[in-house]
Amino acid sequence: MRFLITAGPTREPIDPVRYLSNRSSGKMGYAIAEAAIEAQHQVVLISGPVSLDRPPGAALISVSTGDQMFDAVHEQIGNCDVLVMCAAVADYKPARVSKSKLKKRETGISLELTPTRDILASLPKQDRHYLVVGFAAETENIEANAQKKLREKNCDIIVANDARIGMENDENEVTIFLRDGEIKKISRAPKKIISRELVKILENYFEKRLTKKIR
Ligand code: C5P
Repeated sequence: MRFLITAGPTREPIDPVRYLSNRSSGKMGYAIAEAAIEAQHQVVLISGPVSLDRPPGAALISVSTGDQMFDAVHEQIGNCDVLVMCAAVADYKPARVSKSKLKKRETGISLELTPTRDILASLPKQDRHYLVVGFAAETENIEANAQKKLREKNCDIIVANDARIGMENDENEVTIFLRDGEIKKISRAPKKIISRELVKILENYFEKRLTKKIR
C-alpha cells in the first residue's frame, strides 16, 4: 500500500521572527511512517518542523505552514492508498503577517486570527480511491468528539487520543473509530507498538474495502 502521512505541528508566521504553533512533536506520525515501512509499504511523509530524523525509506516533504501542508497533501493525494492526517495543523493563523519585526510597546497588543483551511474537510467526499484517517487529540468527551469528527470530516477512520497523554510523549493510548461502526481500543503503549497495530488495522480495512465488504 502507498501511505501518505502528515506529522508534526505547523507554524503560522506573525512576523519574520515569530510564529504561532503547538506542542506536537511529530513522534506519532513518524512512528506510523516507520511501522508502515517495516510492513513493506511505501511512505511519503509530509512533515511540519520537528526535531526527528527522516525514517529510513520514507520520502520526506518538509513544510512549515498549514497552507504549505494543504498544498503538499493535494499534490500527493492522487498517488496514495491511505492518507493518515496525524499532523496538528494550527486551527488559526494571524490575519496579517508583518513584513518587519513587530516592535515591543509599552501597551498590550491584540493579534487578529483567522481560521486555517481544513485539509481533511477539503478532500472529495465521495468516490475516493484512498482511505482517509483523521486524528482527534482531545482533552474531554473524547469519544463523542471523535464520532462527530468522523462524520463531519468525512473520514473512514478516526484515531482518538487524550492530548494530555499523547502530546510530546513517547507513549500514547488510542481508540480507533471505524466508519463501519467498529471501535478498537489500544491501551497505553509506546507509539511504536500503537503504530504497528494501527498499520495492521488499516491493512485489514483497505482489504475489506477492496473486496467491497464495506461501503
Ligand atoms: O478539528 P481538529 O483540528 O481537532 O481535527 C483534527 C484532525 O483534522 C487531524 O487529523 C488533523 O490533521 C486534521 N486537520 C486538518 N486541517 C486543519 C486542522 C486539522 O486536516 N486545518
